[in-house]
Amino acid sequence: MASQLVREWVGIQQFPPATQSKLLELLGDLKQQDVNTLNILVMGKSGVGKSSTVNSIIGERAVAVSAFQSEGLRPVIVSRLSAGFTLNVIDTPGLIEGGYVNDQTLEIIKRFLLDKRIDILLYVDRLDAYRVDNMDKQVIKAITDSFGKDIWRRALVVLTHAQLSPPDGLEYDVFFSKRSESLLKVLRVGARIKKQDAWGFNIPVVLVENSGRCNKNQSDEKILPNGTAWIPNIVKTITEVALNGSKSILVDRKLIEGPNPNRQWKEFIPVIFAFQYFFIIKPIQRAIKSDIAKEAKPAWELRDSGGSSRRF
Ligand code: GDP
Ligand code: MG
Repeated sequence: MASQLVREWVGIQQFPPATQSKLLELLGDLKQQDVNTLNILVMGKSGVGKSSTVNSIIGERAVAVSAFQSEGLRPVIVSRLSAGFTLNVIDTPGLIEGGYVNDQTLEIIKRFLLDKRIDILLYVDRLDAYRVDNMDKQVIKAITDSFGKDIWRRALVVLTHAQLSPPDGLEYDVFFSKRSESLLKVLRVGARIKKQDAWGFNIPVVLVENSGRCNKNQSDEKILPNGTAWIPNIVKTITEVALNGSKSILVDRKLIEGPNPNRQWKEFIPVIFAFQYFFIIKPIQRAIKSDIAKEAKPAWELRDSGGSSRRF
C-alpha cells in the first residue's frame, strides 16, 4: 500500500495517556512478531457506524460520518504511522441498497483492493438491532464470495451503539450474548462455515460506542457499560486476530475475477470427465463397435452360429 499518503499518527496523542500507553504496548507486541503494518478492511451495511468506528480508532475525524446522507461511492484509505508501525484502515460504502446487495459497490471495493493485502476484517453492525434477517446473510455471503471464506479467520464482529439499556429488562450481558450469538449464527450460514470448522465458533465480537456522550472512567478513557475501556480493547482483539496464525488475504486478480473461490468442487471437474469417459463414453463406443460387428455378419450366420462360433 505504498501509493497513498502515510501521515504521522497524531490522533494517538489525542487519546488519554492510559489509552496511549496500552496502544503503544500492543503495537510493540505486533512489531515484536515482525508485523509492522496492518491493513484493516471495514465493511457492513449502511449507517451502522463504520466510518465513526474508523475515526474513533484513529482518534481523528479522518472520514466523513453522516446520519442521513448516503455514503460516498468509493472506499477511503486512512494511513497513519506511529513509532515505525503503519496502520491502514479502509472504510467502505455500505453494501445494501434498496434491500439488496449493490453489486456495483461490491465491484468498486474489489477493484480498490486489487493487489492489496487484507490483514483484518472489521464486520460492523449495531448492538441495538434486535433481529437478524436475510439482508445480514446477503452481506456476509457477498463478502465471502468476494474474498473467500478464510477472510472470516481474520475477522472481528464490531457492534456499535454499545451504550444502551437493553429492552424488556434484560441484563446487559445477557442481551449482548443473545445479540452476538444470533449474528454469529447468521454469519456462519452466510459464510458457509461448517460445524467441524472450530475456528468459526471463535470469531470475536467487540463492543464500540462512538458517541461523544460515551461514559468515561477516571483516566478519561471511553468505557462500555461494563467498565471496559473499549478503544484499547478493540485494538487488543485486532492484535490477537492478527497473530492467530491464519493467513492474510491477498486480493489478486485470480481472487476477484476468477470463479467463486469457495467452489471447491471445481477440483472434481477432471474426475467427472474421467468418470464420463470410462463409464459412459467407453461403454457406448464398445456397444457401437459390437453392433457394427454384428451388422457386418450376414443374418444366416448369426442364426446358425449357435454356441460355437466358426471363424473364417
Ligand atoms: P456508516 O454509514 O456505517 O459509515 O455509519 P456512520 O459512521 O456514518 O454513522 C451513521 C450515524 O450513526 C451517524 O449519525 C453517527 O453519528 C451514528 N453513530 C455511529 N456509531 C455510533 C455509536 O456507536 N453510537 C451512537 N450513539 N451513534 C453512532
Ligand atoms: Mg460511512
